[in-house]
Amino acid sequence: MILIVDDKSENIFSLKKLLEHNNFEVDTASSGEEALRKILKNIYALIILDVQMPGMDGFEVAEAISGYSKAKDIPILFLSAVNKEKHFITRGYASGGIDYITKPVDPDILLLKAKTFYRLYEQTQQLTQAREKLTEEIEIRKVTEKKKDEFISIASHELKTPLTSIKGYLQLSERALENKNLENTKKYIQRTQLQLEKLSNLVADLLDISKIEGGKMKLNKGIFNFGKLLSNAIDMVRPTTNGHKIIVKGSADVDVYGDEVRIEQVIINYLTNALKYSPDAEEVHIESNITDNRLKVSVQDFGIGIPPRKQKNIFQKFYRVEESSNRFQGLGIGLYICAEILKRHEGTYGVKSVPGSGSVFHFSIPILNHSK
Ligand code: ADP
Repeated sequence: MILIVDDKSENIFSLKKLLEHNNFEVDTASSGEEALRKILKNIYALIILDVQMPGMDGFEVAEAISGYSKAKDIPILFLSAVNKEKHFITRGYASGGIDYITKPVDPDILLLKAKTFYRLYEQTQQLTQAREKLTEEIEIRKVTEKKKDEFISIASHELKTPLTSIKGYLQLSERALENKNLENTKKYIQRTQLQLEKLSNLVADLLDISKIEGGKMKLNKGIFNFGKLLSNAIDMVRPTTNGHKIIVKGSADVDVYGDEVRIEQVIINYLTNALKYSPDAEEVHIESNITDNRLKVSVQDFGIGIPPRKQKNIFQKFYRVEESSNRFQGLGIGLYICAEILKRHEGTYGVKSVPGSGSVFHFSIPILNHSK
């Protein structure tokens, strides 16, 4: 939009008509003060400014505009009665495009200059936008790089922990075997197996991340029975509980179309987190139901909970809640992988949580039918 500033309504009228006739949108102001008010409120591509006005003259207006960060780049076309005023023109308004036209106005010249400035303004805008976008992208990349570095160091640490335990348990079982203590040997081998399971899950998660990044996470969809999947998943998680009881509620003994292994992975992940982040609780609840042709699953724990501000980030890659990151080991990728799996099943997911009371992680996916 072009702003015409002139104290004489007849001048405004003829300029407005000329510009509108050439498809420009036009706004008008009859004094410098009114112009400044409008410039603060609206966005203009060009200001046509009469130099001689009672009250604030054109130069004063231009000087004032140069102090507004939002408007300082708007080109100004001065209308002056005498050519010699030209040297004033650049004063105080160095950053934007500037030009003048002597009165009486030659319509062709005015149009030519208006068009040039309009284009200049549009190009400047495009450049500014491109610059802002670039700066934003650079910032995002910097943050991702930093997160990646942190991730590599946490990942190495996370891999090292079960490895150290495995080494220890193997030494212990060797000694127990030498002492012919079969009971202890068995116990240490079982513990070794648990640690190996942990290690293999970690490696699987790491591989999943690189598959997702490379756009190579392929799903193997088919029809499976959810009830069976659920009891398998619970059986797999049970040995890792620290005295928790896993309470199963609802009924969803239905056939579902999806990737069985991946859906099981989501449930195991939700359950493992529920157990991990509620070390002092006695129970974890898992409930499944069918509503509106969708399978809805929720896993509730009575653990540490998640602060409200952090809940929206919880499914992001590498995200861990700072307050608890020292107390609990983890990579911050499990829920991200869950989200990616669910997205590929037309799924929805989320969390409701109260710090200190616990969390409910839920998801839903479409099912095939309601058959029992
Ligand atoms: P990890 O547990 O390996 O850090 P996840 O992606 O599974 O990674 O979880 C991301 C973060 O979400 C965790 O670091 C933790 O801060 C938070 N979180 C996940 N599940 C729970 C839960 N049941 N209770 C409290 N916080 C949780």
